[in-house]
Amino acid sequence: MGSRVELGFVDGEAAAAPWWRLRSAQFPSKVGGRPAWLGESGLPGPEQLRCGRCGRPCAFLLQLYAPLPGRSDAFHRGLFVFCCRGPACYRPGVQGPLRVFRNQLPRKNDTYSYDPPPETPPPEGTPRVSLQLQCGAHLCRVCGCLGPKTCSKCHKAHYCSKDHQTVDWKLGHKLACLQSAHLDTAIPDHKFLFPEYEIVIEPEEMDAPDDSQADTQKELVKHEELEAAGDANEAFESLDEEVLEAMAKHETREDKIFEKFKNRIAAEPEQILRYCREGEGPIWISGENIPQTKDIPNCSCGAQRIFEFQVMPQLLNHLKVDSLGESIDWGTLVVYTCAKNCNQANGYMEEFIWKQDVIAGCSI
Ligand SMILES: [Zn+2]
Ligand SMILES: [Zn+2]
Ligand SMILES: [Zn+2]
Ligand SMILES: [Zn+2]
Repeated sequence: MGSRVELGFVDGEAAAAPWWRLRSAQFPSKVGGRPAWLGESGLPGPEQLRCGRCGRPCAFLLQLYAPLPGRSDAFHRGLFVFCCRGPACYRPGVQGPLRVFRNQLPRKNDTYSYDPPPETPPPEGTPRVSLQLQCGAHLCRVCGCLGPKTCSKCHKAHYCSKDHQTVDWKLGHKLACLQSAHLDTAIPDHKFLFPEYEIVIEPEEMDAPDDSQADTQKELVKHEELEAAGDANEAFESLDEEVLEAMAKHETREDKIFEKFKNRIAAEPEQILRYCREGEGPIWISGENIPQTKDIPNCSCGAQRIFEFQVMPQLLNHLKVDSLGESIDWGTLVVYTCAKNCNQANGYMEEFIWKQDVIAGCSI
């Protein structure tokens, strides 16, 4: 992936990728299902995968295969996003229900062949779901993340948390525990994983980049910073003419940003993500809640984090989550990763994700 913007789409058509295309050995980019882990060491543990709001285990949302050209230590590179399933954790303007991790491997590694993976299906009878990594580590039956807890009766079912053990127990492990030979082939639908789709990447086709947009975005960030620096109480002391005028202006500004956002995606309204490392920044859906530099923490190696990709609101349409009123929600999710793409102990490095919400009244 280069410095041009690349778009991701969900492949939900009849010709969608067969299941084996979405497993680790094929280095997929995908939405939902269980994570197709890349490296097997240093997986994020249950503590790291907890929602920052409610503390419950996050579900796997999506992963991107995003190697960095010219970096032999990142010949394979994956970004993994997790999110809470609780609608209450998505209050506008509040961060916390999302997690993102980065992992990378050199071409020569202990898990994958030096050569590209075969283009042919695996032998008949290969299980679709594997709850154990090649290295032997067990994965949770419900979420596919590390499962350090074991059922104390059969010692064969593994879980990330008490929460997921309870879900599985109610949905059949209570009985299956007694005949645990078939545990790996009979996994009930826990209604926890999102539907699984391949992500197809295509370059964004557009005319010369619109410089005025970049300028407006810069101005807005400056404006936000000024606003934040001022005293909020002072601003709302009295609703005099000046204040009303300012509020009206703010509304127009909000409309403008949303208009820009819509225009930019109009050519490809189905895009679920935009990728551009070391290039154009994210497009904001609103003027509210744009992170300032101080809001984006540096990587633990000390380097700054830079924009790498953003998830678009269109992805929500594919997650089958908004059935009864309240649902998990976002305007856009913006992922920032270590500018140096550091490699600390070959494990999964936690990176930074920012949620921006749609202002009430705007709809795509
Ligand atoms: Zn939560
Ligand atoms: Zn779990
Ligand atoms: Zn058991
Ligand atoms: Zn770093």
